[in-house]
Amino acid sequence: MTDLLKKAESLKEYYTSIRHKIHQNPEISFKEFETTKFIKKELNNMGIDILPLDIPTGVVAIIEGTKNGHGTVTALRADIDALQMEDLSGKPYASKNPGVAHACGHDGHVAILLGVAKLLNEMKDKFSGMVKLVFQPAEEGLGGSMIIINSGALKNPDVDAIVCLHGWPYFKVGEVGAWSGQYMASADKFLVKMIGKSGHGARPYKAVNPIMAASNAINAIPNIVSNEIVTAKQAVVTVCTIHAGTAFNVIPDLVEFGGTVRCLDPVVRDELETKIKRVVKGAAQMFGCQAEIEYNRGVPSLINDPELVDQVIKASADVLGNESIRELDGPVMGSEDFSYYIDAVGKGVFYRLGIGTGEEIEPIALHNSEFDFNDDAIPYGIATMVQLILNRHN
Ligand SMILES: [Zn+2]
Ligand SMILES: [Zn+2]
Repeated sequence: MTDLLKKAESLKEYYTSIRHKIHQNPEISFKEFETTKFIKKELNNMGIDILPLDIPTGVVAIIEGTKNGHGTVTALRADIDALQMEDLSGKPYASKNPGVAHACGHDGHVAILLGVAKLLNEMKDKFSGMVKLVFQPAEEGLGGSMIIINSGALKNPDVDAIVCLHGWPYFKVGEVGAWSGQYMASADKFLVKMIGKSGHGARPYKAVNPIMAASNAINAIPNIVSNEIVTAKQAVVTVCTIHAGTAFNVIPDLVEFGGTVRCLDPVVRDELETKIKRVVKGAAQMFGCQAEIEYNRGVPSLINDPELVDQVIKASADVLGNESIRELDGPVMGSEDFSYYIDAVGKGVFYRLGIGTGEEIEPIALHNSEFDFNDDAIPYGIATMVQLILNRHN
């Protein structure tokens, strides 16, 4: 075991207790007030500088290396929010907030980044430049990374690269993986109002049935991917909501349906928006309806910088051994607001940290109500991040 990993192991007990406290008191996106206070208190206890930012939740702290060398500035990011769902983990530290749970393991990410802060603060003489520790609010669907970017925290001095990890139940504890290049999809959403004319179910010729138009549109939309998008490009369009009607004998005025649009390529992203609108309008016209489409762009696709991927792999191998490196399946159609940072900073890497026991046949998935972060992974998360900083800042 390397010295660094030993040091990280020595922090395990404390940062496990931190993780349990956060797990027990989860807060949803942009409401992470107590979590923010708690993180600030921990950083204050370590004597680490916190940037005075005008943000309601979230924290950015800085640690300056004292070693002579170039002024590399690396940001390390942990997301801090929980999900609106029940915690059925059955753990003694299960959520005390009904309907809120740390089911994505962000409690683990916070504990790891606090451990990283502790070690880097004690090892200032071992690296040059500056590390910015970003405790970001609202990762789960609300794009909290934009709050951090707009706060100016990544400027002055400008961050050269941003790095984060995410717990991964499909790797064992002690394993790490990163995908080079396009890894996660952009995530856009649409909501369609198909407007007809209500009437008696027995006399459809006196009405305009929006259900006919909507069902045709819903059938046609997924075919855009198979028929109109270059086969080599990955994309998914899924209709996930539909609402219509109140009675078996009443044709409704309105059908509302909506869904999600995922792809990796920015050109395909534009194409999908145009084509979905065309299909919806075409279906409306076919049945004499009016269609209104609300189309919202969400996070862009996440593209890992190949050089930084190599650095993460090397740092992980340095501290955990070559056997710790796993092939990661990719790309995936999930999304992450970490991509906003990569676009803003110009360079970033999102890597996976094993939190599985290796014994489960089907590990409990992220966002499952029984999910709980694996504390055994905390030292490995700390050690890989610290080693990456020592390698990059020397
Ligand atoms: Zn999540
Ligand atoms: Zn997450």
